[in-house]
Amino acid sequence: MDTERVIVIGAGHSGCKAAQALRKQGWTGPITMVGKEGCAPYDRPPLSKAVLLGKKAHDQCSFFPLDWYSKNGIDLVLGRIVTRIDAANKAVLLDNGEVHRYRKLLIATGAELNVLPVAGADLAGVEALRTPDQAARIAACLQEGKRIVVIGAGFIGLEVAAAAIEKKCHVEVVEAAPVALGRSLPATVSDALISFHRAKGVGFRFGTGVSAIEGTSHAECVVLSDGSRIPCDSMVYGIGVRPSTNLARDAGLAVENGIVVNKYLQTSEDDIFACGDVTNYFCGLFNQPMRMESWKNAEEQAEVVARNIIGQSVSYEHVPWFWSNQYDLTLQVAGLPALGTRHTERSVGSSKLYLSQTDDGKVVGVCGLGSVREIAMPMRQAKNLVQTRHHVDASEFADESRPLEPLAD
Ligand SMILES: Cc1cc2nc3c(=O)[nH]c(=O)nc-3n(C[C@H](O)[C@H](O)[C@H](O)COP(=O)(O)OP(=O)(O)OC[C@H]3O[C@@H](n4cnc5c(N)ncnc54)[C@H](O)[C@@H]3O)c2cc1C
Repeated sequence: MDTERVIVIGAGHSGCKAAQALRKQGWTGPITMVGKEGCAPYDRPPLSKAVLLGKKAHDQCSFFPLDWYSKNGIDLVLGRIVTRIDAANKAVLLDNGEVHRYRKLLIATGAELNVLPVAGADLAGVEALRTPDQAARIAACLQEGKRIVVIGAGFIGLEVAAAAIEKKCHVEVVEAAPVALGRSLPATVSDALISFHRAKGVGFRFGTGVSAIEGTSHAECVVLSDGSRIPCDSMVYGIGVRPSTNLARDAGLAVENGIVVNKYLQTSEDDIFACGDVTNYFCGLFNQPMRMESWKNAEEQAEVVARNIIGQSVSYEHVPWFWSNQYDLTLQVAGLPALGTRHTERSVGSSKLYLSQTDDGKVVGVCGLGSVREIAMPMRQAKNLVQTRHHVDASEFADESRPLEPLAD
């Protein structure tokens, strides 16, 4: 039987959806999924949104109930770490000494949090956010009148700031870069987002880092690199993640900002595949290697990798896509708008779309910011503009009386 086994390392979003897709696509051999966390695979986006707001319990984000795995013939091994891949013998070693043999191996180990490298980062009340337990601890800190300092004005930091404001906390965001989300968004979009936060009462300090966190046993004050001090009751940092590549590197697989995979999401070893946040794949649309930390990428790679494990030779082709919810605002991002040099706005009711083009008019991205009801449909149409990457007349895009669909022709 083991000669037919698929082993999935990482019981997260992409690994779980790949196991589901394997069954849907007709893989009849055994499937084992090994996950370091003690809980069944769960959806992470609600952790920084509904869970912080108390609208969803932190332990209610699972993709499937536990018995779904046994009903689908998926052997789910939780609370166990894969410590080594023995590619020559097609086996993985677990931290309890067990050895499991595979026919095909899928690495879906995701990414791990960067730890704040300053004195005091281990004090109580200093939190980061990736898991349900962390979300529950942060949610408990967000009480009316509390002073919350957020380090990092990335998507997670801004979502935490929004939840804290909704919970009537005082919020200060510290960002080392001069602007928020400079690598992901054009300045017009990030400025609009930050203005919205300011109007809600969030304070921002750009262009300064953190040098220490002070407190006796609990965080009491954040000391910034410019010498200023911000008293706080709790602190949440979101300073990015790094791909979990140690296993792959130790097994001799090609690794460079993620596990390097070909268009079939296959690693440098024929029988070893990878999917999700951990992959460095080649994005044909933008003709460049890419690593994405996004829900849709985890979902879409899972489907494609399952089909390739079965032997279908399907290329991974997609339009990069990301969303974030802050307050009642939704931000949707298609493509790589930060590559654009010209940006054009279009109103959609009270919401906005932003077209990003290169100097020669080629579309590289579209962002939508506003109510999900207003932007969802036009963003689906705008995605076609990115997919075709045709030249679009910016004045036609700006004219809200013109339908978007024909612009992609
Ligand atoms: C709080 C939060 C909010 C988010 N919100 C959004 C959003 O609004 N929109 C969006 O597009 N994306 C969002 N994302 C990103 C999205 O959730 C991720 O891109 C997605 O979870 C990636 O899935 P993955 O399977 O690659 O990784 P993961 O879901 O991280 O799964 C990897 C799993 O592998 C396990 N693992 C690692 N190494 C080993 C090992 N050696 N042995 C066993 N197990 C191992 C890890 O513990 C983990 O459980 C958010 C992420 C977070 C953390």
